[in-house]
Amino acid sequence: MPDDLKPADAVPAEKIRCDACPVMCYIAEGKSGACDRYANHAGELLRLDPLTVIQSGAQAVAFLDQGENAQDWDGDVIQGSRTFVTAVGAGTTYPDYKPAPFIVSQEVEGVDMVTVVTEGIFSYCGVKVKLDTDRHIGEERAIVRVDGEAIGHVMTSEYGSKMLSLGGVEHLTGGSKKEGRVTCDALLRLCNRAAVEMSVDDGVTMVVQAGHAPVINGVTEKLMRVGCGSATIGMFAKQWHGHVDEVVVVDDHITGILSEHEAGRGLDMTPSGIRVNGRRSTPGRYFQVADPGTGWGGTDVQDPLSILKPADAKKAWPGLRLLMISTTGEQWAYYVLDDALVPQPAEITPPLLAVAERIAENCEPSLCSVLFMGGAGGSLRAGVTENPVRLTRSVKDALTYVSCGGAEAYVWPGGGITVMVDVMDMPTNSFGYVPTPALVAPIEFTLRREDYGALGGHVNHIQPVETVIRKDNRRVAPNASQPDPQDSRNYRWTRGKP
Ligand code: SF4
Repeated sequence: MPDDLKPADAVPAEKIRCDACPVMCYIAEGKSGACDRYANHAGELLRLDPLTVIQSGAQAVAFLDQGENAQDWDGDVIQGSRTFVTAVGAGTTYPDYKPAPFIVSQEVEGVDMVTVVTEGIFSYCGVKVKLDTDRHIGEERAIVRVDGEAIGHVMTSEYGSKMLSLGGVEHLTGGSKKEGRVTCDALLRLCNRAAVEMSVDDGVTMVVQAGHAPVINGVTEKLMRVGCGSATIGMFAKQWHGHVDEVVVVDDHITGILSEHEAGRGLDMTPSGIRVNGRRSTPGRYFQVADPGTGWGGTDVQDPLSILKPADAKKAWPGLRLLMISTTGEQWAYYVLDDALVPQPAEITPPLLAVAERIAENCEPSLCSVLFMGGAGGSLRAGVTENPVRLTRSVKDALTYVSCGGAEAYVWPGGGITVMVDVMDMPTNSFGYVPTPALVAPIEFTLRREDYGALGGHVNHIQPVETVIRKDNRRVAPNASQPDPQDSRNYRWTRGKP
């Protein structure tokens, strides 16, 4: 524990000790602890954020369509048929052998179900970020920084998207104190859907916010590419056919040339003699036509003619009509070859313009996706059961359903309980932090009561759901995109394989 977090040896009379995390703050009357999650209210330790429950029922559902924070329901009348107690606002118990803050029972479709609810303290956690953009943000493995501190790195690109791996125990605990603090703060903001400005070594600066378009070097990204250059040729070849003699789709990874591509050959197109830089992979598909950048199709190209070699005089002809276009359809240029076989700018024709618009129409909006990833396979399990490995096995056997703030968590194969969840599926402001530093994230384990007993659960601490529900709970409507954590179809026992 850092020196400045160490508690005093004796508890000052007017202070109370918070034991919800290893920091063990002594909190004076009317003050909150170091994480701002707990406070001393008239000598009582209080979790400041209300417990969040998911309330099914007509009134709650009505709130689903009302704006960005539609999940927040300020109504105070419980009208729903069933309530799911999330871990958001539930608090944490420490040390780990203490039972989780809430172990709630409820009968669901004739089955006694138990949900174990805790705000886990995740020292091993981070986020995976998907940025829907072709623009070159930096080399793979390049360091990503916030306030000059390393918080993660660029990882393998996916189809039409750049990927970041941020946080993790090495940045939280393995570097300087400032690195850990900045990393924790960046993760917290990203998980709570706030905007974070970051830079990539030898790359761009960008603003990342879950559910919003990435802003790269000050420019808000609009569209995610329809496909690579080759795929774009495949999709739109027929629509170009007859209106143009050659199309070059500029892409950082695979640039396509229509007449040479199988799609053009299939349409009996005449080879045009238009040639591009780079390395030919297969007919009509070229790698490395330019350097990566923030120009056309994720290349550094601003002038598309810069990727052309002189046309093949044996094949090309004066008057040849050439379209060059990017993979989002946002950039295009139309040329006609002159007598020296040099492309000269010309006015694009309506049919070609329509296809450019069709490409853009087929691009999805560019978004930042933030997935929280953390390891719940460690000591956190002891708050659920006295025999922690049985919880792991129960999760793997699909007898226990894992959710984060009610949102389905993907549980990685292999050992432990390593979960991943889209922060956009969770209630707003689901995350907190403690200054150890670590992120605090909600996690719920739902299972049959008899299974809970069998895995050595803290059955003496089970309480009926009615005893947890209070007027001051924060109620959110069910997320229509999420499975019901208590739906028996999610469990192996309903499929006859206990
Ligand atoms: S940091 Fe927060 S949870 Fe930890 S002891 Fe202090 S008030 Fe309690």
